[in-house]
This record gives sequence, C-alpha cells and structure tokens, in this order.
Amino acid sequence: MASLPGIGPGRAALLARLGIVTVRDLLLHFPRAYRDCRELTPLASVEPGERVSVVAEITSSRQVRLRGRQSLALITLADGTGTLQASFFGRGFLARSAFVPGRHAFFTGRVGQYNGPCLSSPEYELLEEEDLQSLRQGRILPAYPLTEGITQRMLRKWVLAALDAVAPGLAEPLPGELAERMGFPPAAEALRGVHAPDSPEAAAAARRRLIFEELLVLQTDIQRQKRLLRQENRAHTHRVGGELLRRFQAEIPFALTAAQRRAVEDILGDMAGPTPMLRLLQGDVGSGKTLVALHAAVVAADGGLQTAFMAPTELLAAQHALVLEGLLAPLGLRTVLLTGAAEGRGEAHRAAASGDAQVVVGTHALFQDRAAFHQLGLVIIDEQHRFGVAQRELLVRKGPRPDVLQMSATPIPRSLALTVFGRMDLTVMDELPPGRTPVTTRYIPQGKTAACYDHVRKQAEEGVQAYVVCPLIEDSIAKQDTRALLTHFSELSAGPLAGLRTGLLHGRLPAPEKDAVMRAFKRGEIQVLFSTTVIEVGIDVPNATLMVIENASEFGLTQLHQLRGRVGRGTRPSFCFLLGKPRTPEGRERLETLCKCSSGFDIAEADLRMRGPGELLGVRQAGLSDLRAADLIRDARLLDAARREAERLTAPDCADAGNLADSLFRPQSDAPAPA
Ligand code: ADP
Ligand code: MG
Repeated sequence: MASLPGIGPGRAALLARLGIVTVRDLLLHFPRAYRDCRELTPLASVEPGERVSVVAEITSSRQVRLRGRQSLALITLADGTGTLQASFFGRGFLARSAFVPGRHAFFTGRVGQYNGPCLSSPEYELLEEEDLQSLRQGRILPAYPLTEGITQRMLRKWVLAALDAVAPGLAEPLPGELAERMGFPPAAEALRGVHAPDSPEAAAAARRRLIFEELLVLQTDIQRQKRLLRQENRAHTHRVGGELLRRFQAEIPFALTAAQRRAVEDILGDMAGPTPMLRLLQGDVGSGKTLVALHAAVVAADGGLQTAFMAPTELLAAQHALVLEGLLAPLGLRTVLLTGAAEGRGEAHRAAASGDAQVVVGTHALFQDRAAFHQLGLVIIDEQHRFGVAQRELLVRKGPRPDVLQMSATPIPRSLALTVFGRMDLTVMDELPPGRTPVTTRYIPQGKTAACYDHVRKQAEEGVQAYVVCPLIEDSIAKQDTRALLTHFSELSAGPLAGLRTGLLHGRLPAPEKDAVMRAFKRGEIQVLFSTTVIEVGIDVPNATLMVIENASEFGLTQLHQLRGRVGRGTRPSFCFLLGKPRTPEGRERLETLCKCSSGFDIAEADLRMRGPGELLGVRQAGLSDLRAADLIRDARLLDAARREAERLTAPDCADAGNLADSLFRPQSDAPAPA
C-alpha cells in the first residue's frame, strides 16, 4: 500500500477504517454507484419528473429554516446554458459546509418542483479541476463508499494505480469452459470493468462475474469440507425410481414447471446418494413446493420407509393431510393427521408407531415424546422459518439419521447462512405454475372502504370467493380482540355484505370447528371468509381470488406477501385490497412496496433494506461480513449456480477445476504488491 502515491501512515489509518489494508482490499473496494458523465443534461433542458445528471457551478447557497427543527439547504446552479435550484431537505447545514459558491459539483437525482424546477435531495459530489477534465471527456466515474478524510478523487487515483500494477499479471482463476459458458469477461478485464467501465453494461457484466467468482470460491471450500464431513452414510437406503414413484408421476394431473423438475431432480439425487439429504427448498408462495416434496415421500415409501410432514399450524397440517391423502391413497399409501387437537389422535399415534401409516402429517405434536415411528426415513418441514432450530432437530432425532427436506417461501438470512456454511443444500424455485396472473394489489384510502366492500359483494354474487383478513395475531388474541373481530364480522355480514354466506375463522376456535369452516370454504359454501392471520401460510383455495386486508400497515411486509399468496392461485385474475391508514412512514412504505412488487424475493430484499441490517446480524456474526462483492440475499440465484458449479469442480473426476487458489477473493492470499 505504501507504494501507492500519496498514502502515508495517516491516510493508511483512514483507509483501514474502510477495511482497506492491502492492495487487494483496495481492488475489492467496489463502487457503490457510478457517475455516468456521458450524458450530462444542460441545465436549460432539465424537465420536471426526469432523472438527470448535471455538472454545474454553485452560484448561491442558503439555509432555510422550516417549521419544527428541520432545515433545508437551497442552492442555485449555473452552467452557461441556464440555472437550476437544488434542495437538500433536513440538511440545511450543507449550505455552509459543502456548497461554497464558486465551486463545481456533480449532481444526480430526480427533478421536482419547488418554486420552479428543482433537484430534490440529489446525490452530489464536489469537483476539483482535474475531475472536471475527466467529466468533460465523458467518462463513467466510480463512486466509492467513503470515510472522513478520504475523497472520491483519492480513491479513484489509488485504485487506478493499483489496477495498472496488478491487472496485467492477474491469473485467471475460473476454468475457461465455465467462463465461456457463463459469458464472463476475463479476470483482469472484469476488475477493470468494475472500477473503470466503458458502459453501464460492462460494469454490470464485470460485477456479475466478480460476484460469481466470490461465491464460487466460498462454495468450493464448503463442498470440500462437506465431502470430508459427509462420510457418514445413512442407516437405510432409498429406492429411487421405483414402481410407486412411476405411478405417482403418471397420476399428477398437470405438467411440472421446469423449476419443479429441477427441484425433484435435486431431491432424488440426494436420496439416491449414500448420505442423508439435508436440503432447503425455497420457492415463492404458490410455486408448488408441496408437490415437489411429495416425490420424496413416495420414494421413501417405495423403500418401505415412513415420512413425517410437519406444518406450523393445525389448519395447514389438516389441509396437507387432505391433499396428500388424495394423491397417495390411489397408490395404496396411508396418510394420517397427528396434531395436538386432531380427532383420532390415538389411532394416528398407533399407525405411526406400527408403520401402518406411510405418511404422518402434523404440527409440532410430531416431535413430542409420545410420537413414535416404525421406520422414519424422511422428515419434511414446511414453512421452516416458523419453527425453531431446536424443534426441527427434535423431529430429526425420531429416526436414525433420516433425510431432511425443509421448505420456505421466505429467503431468510439464517437459512442462507446455513446453506453457505454447508450444512444445507439449497434449491431455489423461481417460477410459478403457468396460467397464474399476478395479484393486482391496491391501497384503498379510507373514504373508499364502503366502495371496496360493495365490490366484494358484487364479485361474490358472481361466484368469486373472498377473504377478509383482520390483524389479530393468532394464538395471542386477547378476548377483546376476538370480540372486535366478532363485532366487525357481524357488522359487515349485516351491512355491506348482507345476503352473502359468510364464515369466521380464528385461532381460538376448537380444531374441528376450524376444520369445518375451512372445508365449507373449500367447497364454496362460504363466499366470504373472515379470518385472522391463521390463513397466513399454505392455505390453498384456487377459487378464492379476492382478498381484503384490514389495517394492512399493521402487518410486516413478508407476512403481507404470505397472506396475499392465498389468492392468485387460480386462473382468474386476483385482487388484494389493502385497507387502513398507515400510522408511520414505514407502514406506508410497506404498502407501497407490496403494491409494486409481486415476487417474494424482491419483497424479502425490500424488507431487509427497510428493517436495516439488524436482521442480518446473525449472518454477520457467522463471519459472512468477509463477502466483498456478493450479497447472499440479492444474489441467491447466483449462489445456487455457484453451488452447482462448485459441486462439479470439487468432484474427484473433474478434469479442469481452474485455479481458484489464485482468486483475489481467496482470503488468505493477497495480490502481489506493486513494484
Ligand atoms: P407453495 O409453494 O406455496 O407451498 P403449493 O404447493 O400450495 O404452493 O401449490 C399451490 C397450488 O399450485 C396448488 O393448488 C397446487 O396443486 C398447484 N400446482 C402445483 N404445481 C403445479 C403445476 N406444475 N401446474 C399447475 N398447478 C400446480
Ligand atoms: Mg406451501
């Protein structure tokens, strides 16, 4: 580092705060954004509503005090073609500290209105004479994360010097065949492309390669460890590709999606191998995970082994039991339901212990002491994020090293961490069955509530079924909340929804009653189902295509997405209406996100962004803070691809495994110091 121009002990200490100690660190300090100076807008042609980048001189700047303690920095810019204002809400101090008249600066942001066109809180960078020159050459400049005392200009200069010193001699760590197949640029080109790109596309391609390379390095290490650790074979063997599986596949009433086929392939591959499966199946709400999991259960049954299928709620367990029975009974397999409240619990226990039942569906009752299995070969855990690690472990101990398949609709950092640390394999299903139309989601302002219920009534009269969800938390509903739900239910049933067949479902109902209500809804006897969040997970009634969520902003984002996942299961267009005025800006943002995004992966990402890194802390502690380019949430799919490649590259018979030891991302190695 000391060999780079202008880095003495003082600046070295500042750089260390950014985690930059070696030349390698410097090269792995990636830009967080780019200043695209190829298309700067002259001030004269700035239009409200557009996103623009401008370079201009600051001609005046002042601090405006607003009501409360807020203040605003308001500055005027000029570039010879015209003038423009820029405002910095809540940051009035900038008027004096940063925006000195006479200085030039780069601004990028959206043009709003504030006494005429005005850039509102743009991102900015103060410029020196030499920056102006590179800007006028129309370059794309990297914008790095900074710390006090270190400027963009310094970092740009040092990074370029480091690139010149290191890039020419940089080894190519990826196998040539892989780089070609993935369409990746060579290592040196990628490094240059991310720091000094010729186009935004080149920057994106470069970054994609670097992310992949980092994940591949991580995954090959893990795979090697796993090969060492997993020398312990399972106690039983599965019969993959047997008669039952063949009959089951012939019986499935629709074609599997490509994602489902890949997932089944992964799972059957695991079960055919000698060591127990430990796999997490991640797929958005409605992607068809249950059917995939059933393949595993049928394979187990083919080999005379039992499956325990665990769901987080009684309602969901009951529904699964019904679905599974429908598909498995024709194969001569017996499914029983074992929950704390289910009728015939004694018989279910007996059938599980004697082996009469091949599949036992249930809630956490499955791992309680009393529950015993004859020969448990497979454990399936649905909505795994609802269970604690300890609960899951208990169930797994009910058999001699059973295979374990966990399913989740939410990409959760903790499970990803597990994936990354190699305890679990991951399959991501990023596809919904064909014919689904995305759920149209709308926020309904308070004045329109009546119109909304009017719409529900009309739709119901035309044969559509609807859910009305009220924000009470299952299991912890206080008596008064239940009363509130009951009151609301009777008011709506007697008022706007009068004449419709309505039903009521909440956690406090006795199980048989819950079951009866759910069956009636499934059969279409109930048109509008009022419910708490008991229906949050898994419930599948394709004819229900309308959902109203009361006080929607009281729910978390992922929970809202799960709830919404109850509709959009049939081929008819589905709608989700969000009621209630948000009480906080975060609440409003959640609703906006939900209206905008339909993919669970986007939602999970937004959720993490909004809730901050707190949620990610578990991952940080696990040591993943070392990741430079990759983000386990954002890059889940690349992670999956990297894992597949790593498996191939670490296999004993792999002909060309590349030279990953030379990768810049390998923590123990460092780039050669520049001469
Ligand atoms: P989730 O992944 O949320 O658990 P489910 O397993 O409940 O999703 O499946 C949702 C619905 O999609 C079910 O009604 C199921 O029968 C149906 N389904 C699953 N796979 C397919 C497919 N390949 N084609 C059509 N429908 C499917
Ligand atoms: Mg499900």
